[in-house]
Amino acid sequence: MSLPLVVQKFGGSSLADADRIRRVARRIARERAAGNDLVVIVSAMGDTTDELLGLAAAITDDPDARELDVLLATGEHQSATLVSMALHALGVAAISLTGPQAGITTDGRYGRARIAGIEPRRVRAELEAGKVVIVAGFQGQSASAVGDSEITTLGRGGSDTTAVALAASLQATRCQIFTDVRGIYTADPRLVTRARQLPVISYEEMLELAHQGAQVMQVRAVELGWVNSVVIEVLSSFEDAPGTLIKEDPFVEQRNKVRGLAHDRNVAKVTVVAVPDRPGVARAIFDPLAEAGINVDMIVQNVGHGGETDLSFTVPRVELASAKKTLDPLVRELGARELTTDASVAKVSIVGAGLHNAPGYAARMFGTLADKAVNIEMISTSEVRITCMIAEADLEIALRALHDAFELERPEPIDAAVSAAG
Ligand code: ASP
Ligand code: MG
Repeated sequence: MSLPLVVQKFGGSSLADADRIRRVARRIARERAAGNDLVVIVSAMGDTTDELLGLAAAITDDPDARELDVLLATGEHQSATLVSMALHALGVAAISLTGPQAGITTDGRYGRARIAGIEPRRVRAELEAGKVVIVAGFQGQSASAVGDSEITTLGRGGSDTTAVALAASLQATRCQIFTDVRGIYTADPRLVTRARQLPVISYEEMLELAHQGAQVMQVRAVELGWVNSVVIEVLSSFEDAPGTLIKEDPFVEQRNKVRGLAHDRNVAKVTVVAVPDRPGVARAIFDPLAEAGINVDMIVQNVGHGGETDLSFTVPRVELASAKKTLDPLVRELGARELTTDASVAKVSIVGAGLHNAPGYAARMFGTLADKAVNIEMISTSEVRITCMIAEADLEIALRALHDAFELERPEPIDAAVSAAG
């Protein structure tokens, strides 16, 4: 009979130095002593990934994508080996494996690979042999012929994806993501002091929060959890406190329609001013942006006047320079007046699965911002979200006002009822 299997993931801040690594090892040892099989996924220590990127940038402006992935993967190798050694020191049998050794194959795209398949034969064998298996997160090998396969990384925050994918593949009973916050909150508690930790959030809502800038979990990991029905628990590695469960939520009808706020400062607004209003213009602008790999998000085209119109959209702030470079020559070609950009904007969103059949929430959001004299520059919506783009300087005021307006600090009665029912 095999033991219940628990997957645990520890992020970089939980592994920032030797003391923290030893503390993580003690936590793993406790879980092991409770009689569970354990697969542990680790991120690189502290800011290692950023430091490695910095080293590469110090060598060249244009590092080779293949070499960069091999370099970045070493961050997770370091922490995996050190956690394994720390477990040995506690007398716990353990072994570290790289992503490829754990049987993770990818589609081969450097820097943003997707997991294509998992064959965790080696992981199972080591578990059978009584070991805790430590897997280096954020990486896998491309699915090429043996000997030709390449190390590829899964994009920033990719260890979350490794953890959820392995939990799904191994049919783990639990998938725990240990991090430096206690769980998912109604808003970023560093900005909104009255933010409340949510006991439960649905996959759909978590996905939308992650998309809109909540940085607790990688978007892809939430998607994978949803598709595979992996119940994910986000919790603190620094204290023993219950976390937040991300799962299918049967009580969605009984909940507040707005579950949380997200915000994103990594955004910039681009406007093509007075562009001729004729077919093909949008394609002429967005095709080259797509080719340059730039993520366009909110798009607004004004009603045309005198054969001309303004076209505005947002891009990640870090991609603004390359968006400008792509568009500058086009502005002349298309006969537009000019290109303007604004990097001092931010997005604020209300998110909740109940929003799509609840009229009046958009009006309440806009009214709340108006009462605080916050100007809305752009609006976009989905079934479970309303997003406004505002000046970055207004962001904190907006978050606090919206948190109050939607009474997000109030615990939901349904949670008390569910926990009372045990
Ligand atoms: N170390 C990688 C990063 O910083 C992956 C991760 O932390 O999940 O993005
Ligand atoms: Mg990290």
